[in-house]
Amino acid sequence: MAVVGVLALQGSFNEHIAALRRLGVKGVEIRKPEQLQSISSLIIPGGESTTMAKLAEFHNLFPSLREFVQMGRPVWGTCAGLIFLANKAVGQKEGGQELVGGLDCTVHRNYFGSQIQSFEAELLVPELASKEGGPDTFRGVFIRAPAILEVGPEVEVLADYPIPSKQVLYSSSAVEIQEEYAVPEKKVIVAVKQGNLLGTAFHPELTADTRWHSYFLKMASEAGEETSNTIVAVSRVSPSSDQQTRYDLPIFQ
Ligand code: GLN
Repeated sequence: MAVVGVLALQGSFNEHIAALRRLGVKGVEIRKPEQLQSISSLIIPGGESTTMAKLAEFHNLFPSLREFVQMGRPVWGTCAGLIFLANKAVGQKEGGQELVGGLDCTVHRNYFGSQIQSFEAELLVPELASKEGGPDTFRGVFIRAPAILEVGPEVEVLADYPIPSKQVLYSSSAVEIQEEYAVPEKKVIVAVKQGNLLGTAFHPELTADTRWHSYFLKMASEAGEETSNTIVAVSRVSPSSDQQTRYDLPIFQ
């Protein structure tokens, strides 16, 4: 029988486990290479990718994580987890950090700037809404977030984010003049899927909207069907009516 693992070295793994629990699914904390053998799909949470990479190196996790991805097991990376999955990461100190790779894209580690430039934005998520229902937008929580600069041909873009013109214009008296010249809107990619790999630059586990988790669970069970695996269920936590009506509010549990 298969279970969903959550890499639990650092970052928001508890929040992912709580989100899975709200969907009636048990998430298992993964800290050692051998534990990957008992799971069929994995979530790599957000946090701080350099710290997470150091811990993963310390626990000798990289070879097993790469093997897990290469075996075609479903893996979802959020934020720092997305950086882990990318084939290439830029915007980091010389030498960089070790990556798991597998996702054919280039990410910029801190595309939106430092911690104080963190923000929330409503993202258009047509693919998610078509599979999971609900509104066609999703509240993206971006915390010192990465962005995807380039994707390979196999990669499906699930969401992008238009950079507000203020963010690309200079803060001088020339602003209005420049606006008249219609600066072309720049977009960066913030959610992708490639086969069994899913990547989001934002933190769905910090909102009460569980549609990305549910989307990933469907990917996992579709992949599991081929090997007759099932997801372990736990008793479903029914959201309060308040949560149901305001389900994009951040949750901290
Ligand atoms: N930009 C961060 C990093 O490089 C990731 C931030 C996050 O996971 N919230 O690790």
